[in-house]
Amino acid sequence: MEFSLIAKHFTRATPGAVLGVGDDCALLAPTPGMQLAVSSDMLLEGRHFSPQDSPAGIGHKSLAVNLSDLAAMGATPRWAILAIALPEENDAWLTAFARGFFRLADLHGIELVGGDTTRGTLTLSITVMGEVPPGQALRRDGAQAGDDIWVSGMLGSAALALAYRQGRLFMEQVDAARVLPALYLPTPRVALGIALRGLANSAIDISDGLLADLGHILERSGVGARLEFSALPMLPVVQSYLHEAVARDCVLAGGDDYELCFTAPTSQRDAIHAAAARAEVAVTRIGQITVEAGLSVTGADGQPLLYDRTGYDHFAA
Ligand code: ADP
Ligand code: MG
Repeated sequence: MEFSLIAKHFTRATPGAVLGVGDDCALLAPTPGMQLAVSSDMLLEGRHFSPQDSPAGIGHKSLAVNLSDLAAMGATPRWAILAIALPEENDAWLTAFARGFFRLADLHGIELVGGDTTRGTLTLSITVMGEVPPGQALRRDGAQAGDDIWVSGMLGSAALALAYRQGRLFMEQVDAARVLPALYLPTPRVALGIALRGLANSAIDISDGLLADLGHILERSGVGARLEFSALPMLPVVQSYLHEAVARDCVLAGGDDYELCFTAPTSQRDAIHAAAARAEVAVTRIGQITVEAGLSVTGADGQPLLYDRTGYDHFAA
């Protein structure tokens, strides 16, 4: 594709790389002694965003979902690669996309060092690289029976916003305005992930919903979990829709929150609160890891809730 397009929209100074955009490869020098954490996420038009969405928002979100994976490993963001397919060379779209992308990149000190640009249905594929000290990555397979289960931020906002946008839930406009930012401008919990090194036994980011993603930790760690529905953190506006089944579903099984779900020994409670304060994000204890396999959710009345939603059904007792 036009080199001028790449030069104009995707070439920035990259002091953290030996060589950035413009050659056949980027040249990177990882910090000696650190491990590289590497992850890719694709976003497709029609599936992950719609053509009417703001290009700056798409730029933000495409990088945010990737940074969220680095956060979930406790990695410090370093470099990104951006592969993009575009139906046409649309200068205004690219300018806004790059603005959203680089604003978030600059916040986290991650540098775009290369990529590929081609014509086709709008598709974004981003690869991110970060660094983590050996043995300190937050993995999915480290949860221990007795661990507290924690989540950052609030649950269900993004899924509720999507349900509203898709007409599956009626919301007052003022209410919708409170949850829409969670869907379009998710905040990757990078500082929290780093602060949890050495404290959390396991971690994952919530992209597919709390039950499904916590389920991955349970599966990989060979343990179970008990959750209290009433302990789940949610915005007051989300709470005010809980009489709707779709809203309860959004909190437990909705995707796109990009909060961290992690487990840690009960002895680390004070340290976790201190780490969260350093990272300037709220964290909430929502349950316990159990020896017995399976995932149960206790309702406000003390009775178990039953869910059959995808992402949960393979754990149903
Ligand atoms: P090649 O044909 O050698 O793969 P390209 O013409 O595809 O080279 O890319 C030229 C340079 O621009 C390379 O350094 C590549 O990494 C970079 N590049 C291409 N597309 C993007 C993009 N969307 N974002 C960042 N860098 C890009
Ligand atoms: Mg190429």
